[in-house]
Amino acid sequence: MGPLTIAVASGKGGTGKTTVATNLALSLPNAQYIDCDVETPNGHLFLHPDLRERTTVSVPLPQMDPALCTLCGECAEACEFNALAVSRQRVLVFAELCHGCGLCGYVCPEAGAITEVEREVGSLEQGEVQHAGGSRTGFCQGRLNLGETATVALVKAAKQLADPRRTRILDAPAGTACPMVETVQGADYCLLVTEPTPFGRNDLELAVGVARRLGVPCGVVLNRCDLGDAAVTDYCRAQAIPVLMEIPFARGLAQAYAQGTPWITADPIWRTRFRTLSQAIREALDA
Ligand code: SF4
Ligand code: SF4
Repeated sequence: MGPLTIAVASGKGGTGKTTVATNLALSLPNAQYIDCDVETPNGHLFLHPDLRERTTVSVPLPQMDPALCTLCGECAEACEFNALAVSRQRVLVFAELCHGCGLCGYVCPEAGAITEVEREVGSLEQGEVQHAGGSRTGFCQGRLNLGETATVALVKAAKQLADPRRTRILDAPAGTACPMVETVQGADYCLLVTEPTPFGRNDLELAVGVARRLGVPCGVVLNRCDLGDAAVTDYCRAQAIPVLMEIPFARGLAQAYAQGTPWITADPIWRTRFRTLSQAIREALDA
């Protein structure tokens, strides 16, 4: 089995997803961390990468030619993002709502009435995290421009930076909406980070549903495992989902998090634990 793509996701925010993703990336030799949480990328706060390259990401924006447009309204009807409205004089385009899917141009019956221009929606940043001894962790992040909605386009662009020679750790946006689905799609494995509460179980069920629909095998990391109830472990047992790592609440871990210090730096035992986690993923895929 070659280098894997491991998506780290969570049905809700605040479970420790980015903490797990960054520590997992740091624990593996020559891994690549890709922050697909493009609305609020914050993995860099723990990894402190040396950023070397920044590129912009654009999506196509439709432009209507008033000389050719008959105001039939088919484009506005087809647009599921409500980015178009037809007035008596022209078609209005709400650029921030447009995802650049191209459907309006496809359905327009008037040849040449819709053309496209490029619109910048965000950026990609790449760099490396240097370690003592010369080893490195690759780093990439997508960053959506303020007020933009083309999140999926940016996640796709971030995923294209994946280096096939390295183990890729994709930090997915929280929740189970399209950007999370786009992140998990095509991954070899999906790690779902949750907490042992009824809320954690509810959101985990939704996230498991997404992973299973996508055909991506999944396992669970149970954070603050000593603070809740058995809701999640009961569910995992019933669904034959492996709990690959349990993280107890500890003041030292909370302190490291608050200071932006990776756990594996704060306490070397965590390097071993995260390596064991990655081994458990490989064994789950081999089984
Ligand atoms: S490109 Fe897609 S999202 Fe944008 S206006 Fe056309 S149909 Fe709507
Ligand atoms: S579908 Fe084409 S012709 Fe009809 S309103 Fe839209 S741009 Fe105009």
